[in-house]
Amino acid sequence: MSVAIKGNAKILIALLRTGSHHLRCETSRWITPKEEWEERTCIFCKKEVVETESHYIMECVAYEDIGNQFENNLTVGSLSMLFEEARLHKTANLLIKIHSKNVILEGNLRLMFF
Ligand SMILES: [Zn+2]
Repeated sequence: MSVAIKGNAKILIALLRTGSHHLRCETSRWITPKEEWEERTCIFCKKEVVETESHYIMECVAYEDIGNQFENNLTVGSLSMLFEEARLHKTANLLIKIHSKNVILEGNLRLMFF
């Protein structure tokens, strides 16, 4: 069986799977000097945890409202399980919604600081 994932969802999945995304776990190592791992915390919630792929998709309270719509996806044990073929279509829809909200949240932050 092959799952057809289209357009932006396919790009989002590829970026997350290859570590080519904008989450702080990656972007904080692009700057000089690199931030320590524990300093790469999520700026969208107050949990003081590193903004990893699993935090972004499965844990961050900033996207909790979206995650609640995809409860079966979020109750999986690991990030890799989200990308299993049987769940991939649902995960793709989840990522599109989370990404859309992330764009809005980042825009709001820019307005606050610039
Ligand atoms: Zn967070």
